[in-house]
Amino acid sequence: MRVFSYLGNARPDYRSLMREQIDLLIEGVSIPVNRLVIAEQTHSKLVHQCTAADCGAGLGDHPQIAVADGFITDIPNQYLLIRTADCTPVLIYDPSGKAVAALHSGREGTRKNIAGQAVEQLVESYSCKPQDLLAVIGAGICAEHYEVSPQIYDDFITSLAQMGIEAQSPRYRHLDIQGSIYRQLIHAGLLPGNIHEHEICTFEREDYFSFRRDGTHNRQINLIGIQDE
Ligand SMILES: [Zn+2]
Repeated sequence: MRVFSYLGNARPDYRSLMREQIDLLIEGVSIPVNRLVIAEQTHSKLVHQCTAADCGAGLGDHPQIAVADGFITDIPNQYLLIRTADCTPVLIYDPSGKAVAALHSGREGTRKNIAGQAVEQLVESYSCKPQDLLAVIGAGICAEHYEVSPQIYDDFITSLAQMGIEAQSPRYRHLDIQGSIYRQLIHAGLLPGNIHEHEICTFEREDYFSFRRDGTHNRQINLIGIQDE
C-alpha cells in the first residue's frame, strides 16, 4: 500500500472535472473518476467515515456526502477530494497506508477544529496513533490577507482558546488559519516534524483560485487515497 496525496493549484480545476466527469491525470497517475468521493462542504466539523458505496459521490447523479467537510477512509483506491479557494485543505495519513483523511478547513472548520476531529476519528476507527500520522497543510489565504470583523475575530479566538489551543494572531482582526491548523494538529498529538506546511497564500498567487481576490466559483482540487499496488 502507498498513499497518493495531491494539493492542487488552478490546474486541473474543479469546474472542468464537474463538466467533463472524466478520469483525472495527476503527476502521471490516473485517478478514476468513479473512485472519487466529494463532500458537500458546508463549513461543518463533520468528518464522514467512507464506505465502498461512497465511491463516485458528487459525480453524475450520485449525491455528494451530505453536510460533511472531511472524510476518512481505509479503502484502497478510493480518493477523497476537497475543493478550495482560500479555505485551507488538510491531508492526514498513516504512512503505513492504513488510513487517510482529507479536510476542508476554512474559517468555520478551523474554528470548530475539524483537524482535531479527524485525528480523533482516525484513532477510533482505524487504531491510528497520532504520533505516527503525517499531515500536509495546503494552500489557503494567509493572515495578512485575511482581515475579518471584530465579532468574527473574537468568536474565532475565543473558540480556539476554549479548546486549549493557543489562538495566536499576527494582529487584531487578522486570522492565521494555517497556523491555527498547525497548532490543532500538535494539540491532537501529531509531531512537529510530521506536519508539512505549504505556506502558499491563494490570494497572492495568480496560479491559484482565490475567492476573496476574484469571487471565483472555481476551486483547486486536493485529494488523497490509498493505492493498492
Ligand atoms: Zn497572503
